[in-house]
Amino acid sequence: MNSLFLTLFSLIQAYQYYSYQEIVDTFKKLEIDHTDVFRLYYPTKDLDNLRYLDCGDEECQFFYAEFAQNPNAADLPTVLIAAGFHGDEVIGQNVVTELAKYLTSESKLEFLNNRRILLYPMVNPYGYYHKVREEMGKDANRDFNVDNPSSICFQTNAARGLAQVYNKYIIQLGITFHGGDNSISYSWGTCNHKQNGMATESPDDSAMEMIARIMKDIAAENNNLQIQQYSIGRMTDLVYEVNGGYEDWAYAAGWDRTNTCGNRNSEEYLKPSSNARALTYLIEAGFLKQPKSNTLGTIETTNQMLQNWPPLHFYDQKLLTKYQQGYGNINRNLMASLSLIDLAKPYLIAKWDGEKEMILNFGGCYSVTKLTIIRSDKKSIIQDQNTTGIWDQFNKGYVLPNITKNDLFEISYQCDVKQFKTQRNPDPKLQPQSYFVQSRINDTYEYRFDQYLVQNTNKILYRINVSELNHTKINSLFETQQVSIYVTTQSEDHQDQQISPNQNNNKKEHIWWLLAIFIVLSFVLTILLYKYCSKKQEEEVMEMYTIQNEAKL
Ligand SMILES: [Zn+2]
Repeated sequence: MNSLFLTLFSLIQAYQYYSYQEIVDTFKKLEIDHTDVFRLYYPTKDLDNLRYLDCGDEECQFFYAEFAQNPNAADLPTVLIAAGFHGDEVIGQNVVTELAKYLTSESKLEFLNNRRILLYPMVNPYGYYHKVREEMGKDANRDFNVDNPSSICFQTNAARGLAQVYNKYIIQLGITFHGGDNSISYSWGTCNHKQNGMATESPDDSAMEMIARIMKDIAAENNNLQIQQYSIGRMTDLVYEVNGGYEDWAYAAGWDRTNTCGNRNSEEYLKPSSNARALTYLIEAGFLKQPKSNTLGTIETTNQMLQNWPPLHFYDQKLLTKYQQGYGNINRNLMASLSLIDLAKPYLIAKWDGEKEMILNFGGCYSVTKLTIIRSDKKSIIQDQNTTGIWDQFNKGYVLPNITKNDLFEISYQCDVKQFKTQRNPDPKLQPQSYFVQSRINDTYEYRFDQYLVQNTNKILYRINVSELNHTKINSLFETQQVSIYVTTQSEDHQDQQISPNQNNNKKEHIWWLLAIFIVLSFVLTILLYKYCSKKQEEEVMEMYTIQNEAKL
């Protein structure tokens, strides 16, 4: 009886595949239930000369969701998770649907509130409905205006719909899910960026690789479900090069060569193409295009793992093994997506044990540099050149001792992005071009597109009032949830006003200390000199006395 109950329970908790109609219904219901934060858009609505695509009795529906707590905020970092270019590669559509359910749930992680997350579950709904690769005989992922020898591009409703997302938002980071291989890959993947049969290095290659590594680690492997660890690398090398592929378009159409598209109305695609500079990943989500249902994983495992964010345990085999039974094809890709979304903007997690220790964790960063912590009494100043962020496997958090509930702190730092600048041999020979990398490495970066804005995200200042933290006693970093996140990143001007006086005070304090040390040293020197002189005089007197005595002899 007990085992029957357990089997039933795990069936309820197990992820299942959704049909085309279930995905449509799920998104529409989520919009009704969460209108303030979850809105649907229909990107092909205003396009002319669309193909008629049947999904059963109805025309196929092209839609995506925007999740944002404050959708009117101009500078929310924007991440696009898209799936289903190829209708018979079916993991991604289900991952994106589960992501939509998670984002609108009560238990979602706090950092997600400071992101704009665009979820495009079925780029090619016709393909998903009919379980075929192409959109009525045309491959949507060969239909973009990069390295495209075809006389006409943007022929599919799928490519035209997805391009319209770039007509509205500034996308900084993105994923597209495919299937049939087991890899996370990035630019270049077009035929015109190749040398000796291999992909050349894009100007953002270092950042692409670093983030791919983080996603690979969190996606992990699971021998119980025959899931292997993802390989990472450039698309041409891991998958194959294509003409007119979306991922290179999303990354480079805004600055690299593009084609004209024959008879297609250029007004439709010129503006979105000019706005495409997103770091974009192609995830081939497993060797099978449709993995068995019993390898999808369980919702319970996702919930357990998310309670332990930041996900330090991905580097700890023992802890990972604990979760492995239920860590399936949906879980791993959901977590990889969340890790990319996490990296879109730096944030801080502060935990206080209620007695004296406070632990800081630096989210959205791999490692941290120029960390300065100033206590409100200005007597305690900590400066640390290098510490770790939540994605570093050695991250244990930064411990501040002797904390009382009356303490106030100013904490400033930068995510360490030195490696983002170190391309060995970029093709073409340019600085990093993506919005994401520029917003981290360029202090004065600012880009506007209609009402939206990207600017530097790497000058970070937080103010923490310890008395406002939840005083829950924390036993261990792994087993407890974060108690508070402060995301009040201030503008540079504000930082100058707030930080500079403290630094001036420090300088004044240093001068007083130096003066005091100088006075004490002078005093000691005077005494020593006096003693030395009187001893010398004494010796001279003694010498004279001896000489006189000797003369007497
Ligand atoms: Zn595919």
